[in-house]
Amino acid sequence: MIQIAAELDRLRDAGLYRQRRLLAGPQAVRPRIDGRELLAFCSNDYLGLAAHPAVIEALREGAARDGVGSGASHLISGHHEAHEALETALAAFVGRERALLFSTGYMANLGVIQALCGRGDQILADRLNHASLVDGARLSQARLRRYPHADIDRLQGMLINGNGNLIVTDGVFSMDGDLAPIPALASLASHSDALLMVDDAHGIGVLGAGGRGSLEHLGLDGPEAQAAVPILVGTLGKAIGTFGAFVAGSAELVELLIQRARSYIYTTALPPALATATLKALQIAQQEPERREQLQHLISRFRAGAYSLGLALADSPTPIQPLIAGDVDTALRWSRYLEDNDILVTAIRPPTVPQGSARLRITFSAAHQATDVDRLLETLARLPEQQWVKERQAKQQR
Ligand SMILES: *Cc1c(COP(=O)(O)O)cnc(C)c1O
Repeated sequence: MIQIAAELDRLRDAGLYRQRRLLAGPQAVRPRIDGRELLAFCSNDYLGLAAHPAVIEALREGAARDGVGSGASHLISGHHEAHEALETALAAFVGRERALLFSTGYMANLGVIQALCGRGDQILADRLNHASLVDGARLSQARLRRYPHADIDRLQGMLINGNGNLIVTDGVFSMDGDLAPIPALASLASHSDALLMVDDAHGIGVLGAGGRGSLEHLGLDGPEAQAAVPILVGTLGKAIGTFGAFVAGSAELVELLIQRARSYIYTTALPPALATATLKALQIAQQEPERREQLQHLISRFRAGAYSLGLALADSPTPIQPLIAGDVDTALRWSRYLEDNDILVTAIRPPTVPQGSARLRITFSAAHQATDVDRLLETLARLPEQQWVKERQAKQQR
């Protein structure tokens, strides 16, 4: 049993103690936090939909019509027309036969993996996958094996004979912003009778001209996408701006999840009004590609500016642009320095990221302006230690 006080001391001493900040008012690029207005670059509200007036109005109208609580799980008496309408729209959006709503992405991942795998199977997971995929594997009691990040050769060597392999990957890696090699994973899976599951929490809404995510970005769309990635998970609390998640795939997959996914069966359905609000947000995400275009402008602007400052950039085409600090103290110091300059970028520390790769996880939203990006860059340029300037000089001397 953990010793509560000792564990808290240990976390404090290691710089790993986490604290919540107190937000007032809506999620925004200039939130009021702990009583102060900051310019924030750490939300996952990539399209700026979390407080969109039409989404708020849809939630209000939905609640007036359908009440607030769903009252029961989907299989008892909680499955509402509003859920059904959203599932139909989500399935059409990603081009799958069906989609199934879950309360959160965390629960969707637990539910899918546990429903599909058991003792004797193995789950092959990218080392940088989201924690919920790791936890789902543990819950399933299948063997969990983690392959080095995006390393197809190593993955291939881990496959067992027969049909007992589930390959699981983030579409966009949540702390790094890079994409999984989905076409290569799909071809390996199809040649080895393995099943491929992609969790596209950070791709849905953001990537591809239509916002259909990593698969669309990589040129996999329509029936081809369904064949390549039979299990697609998307979340609704990030780019879509509301809350919840979905699993999309064949009608049979969804039917199996309804029968077997414990995190679907044994929990209260989402409020129907939330499904109505999400449907509205999904429509906006589809109908306003200019939000994705704005994001791409901001990303390009940041990357060009960061490059000329000599910052070490990750290979990320997404709104997730990490600056790796290395040790925890440096990451915390950078974050504190930005906050002293009224900019909020939370430091991300182990175990969320591997040891020695603590970082600032900078994210952009379509609600940011170019001038916001410039202010971030100007502030980073004045960072007292100028770590990256040293790196740039080292590079130039080579
Ligand atoms: C955020 C996230 C989840 C969890 O989704 P929630 O709806 O927040 O529970 C799952 N997978 C990935 C890759 C994520 O980034």
